[in-house]
Amino acid sequence: MIIQLKENISSTEKSDIGNYLLEKKYASKEVRTQLGHYLVCIGKTDFDIRTVGNMKGVKDIHVVSDSYKLVSKKWKTNNTKIQLDDELVIGGERPVIMAGPCSVESEKQIQSIAEHLLKNGVRIMRGGVFKPRSSPYAFRGMGIEGLKLMHAICKPLNIKIITEVMQESQLEQMEPYVDIFQVGARNSQNFNLLDALGELDKPVLIKRGISGTIEELLYSAEYVFSKGNEKLILCERGIRTFENAYRNTFDINAIQVLKDKSHLPVIADPSHGVGIRDYVSKLALASLISGADGVIYEVHEKPEEALSDGQQTLNFEESKSLIDKIHVLSNSFI
Ligand code: PEP
Ligand code: MN
Repeated sequence: MIIQLKENISSTEKSDIGNYLLEKKYASKEVRTQLGHYLVCIGKTDFDIRTVGNMKGVKDIHVVSDSYKLVSKKWKTNNTKIQLDDELVIGGERPVIMAGPCSVESEKQIQSIAEHLLKNGVRIMRGGVFKPRSSPYAFRGMGIEGLKLMHAICKPLNIKIITEVMQESQLEQMEPYVDIFQVGARNSQNFNLLDALGELDKPVLIKRGISGTIEELLYSAEYVFSKGNEKLILCERGIRTFENAYRNTFDINAIQVLKDKSHLPVIADPSHGVGIRDYVSKLALASLISGADGVIYEVHEKPEEALSDGQQTLNFEESKSLIDKIHVLSNSFI
């Protein structure tokens, strides 16, 4: 059950509600976000919710049978939209494109990708500076200097930045340069990191864990929401299965399932989802047809020279062709 509280609720009104819930054997947790004030209630007893609905200080009350609550679609009439600026909205009518290198490598590389994005009307650049790599000997990213470099190039062009944060201690130094924090697949259940992101007022894109279930992804989002941050985006990026003909099994089913279960926007990452360049564009389009609110993919001027994930990275020509197709597709949706 979710009780939406009025902003001006008094402490007496709050304790009246608390006492009533206690009487009904419900545990409740108060959640205050940048957009609302809630009591998330867990309990089993059946009672007429109108009793609480009519109490002073209550704005609305909803029965949510799912085990995750705040991210559930069951209580929110409208899907969540994340407004990045006057024109850029995630979860709106038009699909959003986020594109960029797997890793930030150099000023020249970011400059050329930024120009490519600008030319093609893409307003969000991805690019990792803290890289989770299977091997400790692989390129692990340029760190904060790479992010500053990305920001220095993207900011004047009005291109927003999405980048991965790997641990809580990186948040403070990263925050001034980041528009959307990405939680990577390997950190999808790093609960301390999720808690810390809940205390910020910045959008967070959470990737599905490498072997994560849909429910686990929703619970990860619930961690962030219940700490105070509603600006959440879910991301399908493929899961590990017995199939080894490609890097991951891109779970296109998950897109509609997530859209049905949650009010949060869903973004598809076909680059990591399949891990093979030739298939990325088709899967990106398939994701949008399946209802994704946008795509995130890897692009590089010379993918064969990329320091990470070159095998799944589009070159500029492939990327342009994909963007053109996305525009045609989205015009036919609306
Ligand atoms: C990435 O986006 O470059 C990345 C490492 O993704 P994932 O966490 O999905 O593997
Ligand atoms: Mn990558």
